[in-house]
Amino acid sequence: MMKEIILVKYGEMALKGQNKGTFEDILFKNIKYRLKSMGKFNYSRAQSTIYIEPADESIILEEVIDRLGKVFGIATLCKACVCEKDFSDISAKAVEYLRDTLEDAKSFKVEAKRADKTFPMKSPEICRELGGILAENYSHLTVDVHNPEITVIADIRDTNAYVYADKIRGAGGLPLGSSGKAMLLLSGGIDSPVAGYMMAKRGIHISAIHFVSPPYTSDRALLKVEELCQKMTDYCGDIRFYCVPFTKIQEQLKLRCPEEYFTILMRRLMMIIAQEIAKKDECVALITGESVGQVASQTVQAMVCTDAVCHVPVFRPCIGLDKTEIIEIARKIDTFDISVQPYEDCCTVFTPRHPKIRPQLEQIEKAQEKGNFAELIQEAIDGTELKIFMVNL
Ligand code: ATP
Ligand code: MG
Repeated sequence: MMKEIILVKYGEMALKGQNKGTFEDILFKNIKYRLKSMGKFNYSRAQSTIYIEPADESIILEEVIDRLGKVFGIATLCKACVCEKDFSDISAKAVEYLRDTLEDAKSFKVEAKRADKTFPMKSPEICRELGGILAENYSHLTVDVHNPEITVIADIRDTNAYVYADKIRGAGGLPLGSSGKAMLLLSGGIDSPVAGYMMAKRGIHISAIHFVSPPYTSDRALLKVEELCQKMTDYCGDIRFYCVPFTKIQEQLKLRCPEEYFTILMRRLMMIIAQEIAKKDECVALITGESVGQVASQTVQAMVCTDAVCHVPVFRPCIGLDKTEIIEIARKIDTFDISVQPYEDCCTVFTPRHPKIRPQLEQIEKAQEKGNFAELIQEAIDGTELKIFMVNL
């Protein structure tokens, strides 16, 4: 049996200058957290690469790759074969280990990395010799140094050498937690989970807040949002989930405010509450799934009115995407099928028949005053419940 390890390469972090060390440390910690429950691993780091060697028999490499494929900050993943630091072992193992890959390919080249400068063969020699041996063993292959189908890499390091060929694309982005924390307004829809994913990809650790209006909204609708939140932990890590009782505010809204402003007022009230909770949760920004023009409440003017109650930045990463583009991402992160379950959220229940498309801030503010919401806002904040969703390990 050949011993295998996994090589993790980080991408854009390498560009981050003096922050590089911190980014690497966070990524390293995140990787260890994701793999902890699988068994024991030996880790080492060098030159924008983390070497992960399973130390338990029971560890299944495919599972490790699967988990690491959802860790932000990883550009590529490779499975590699561990060799002695001896050319005959390297070439023998390369022939054997890369059999399936090379049998399926038409062209290849060899690249050598020689971190250990005392290794007796220089890089061009390793490439030439190993290339010759592989071409001999797989006679259908041609060498193509410019545009090879397969690049075989011989990586000569301090204690061992490694041989590998296939690279698996990682999740990209920046390591979770490297850009602080923000509060995602999570509905049961398609857009907000995608928005959360997109900001998490930029290194932002997210918490989530959801507004419920029982009995207008059902328990099943809440369960759906919780299911979404659990699914999001695959990429976003552990998520603190706040559930806000919103019924009284919506009833008051209906009673005292003009119907055409319902949606925008509701969104403002959500923002006000979300900010309060965000502050306690140490979040420095809000995130929503809004996209320009998608529905009447998502005009630029409506966003001007919502942002007027916000004193923290509001990130709307879906803002410039088409619905089809959002759906593509939702499918990739596996939230789509949950999102399309037909349970009502509190917006659909109180949707006005003729929403104002270009609301004027002044009128909106007046309408909100009529509602006299201060006490109800406090009550909603006090009644908010916290649940923590953990990464499935
Ligand atoms: P989504 O697909 O995310 O539900 P949407 O296209 O249905 O978005 P709206 O219903 O207008 O759009 O909501 C816009 C944004 O407001 C949502 O993306 C979400 O961030 C937030 N939001 C709406 N309803 C709720 C809710 N009940 N709880 C928390 N946030 C909400
Ligand atoms: Mg919605």
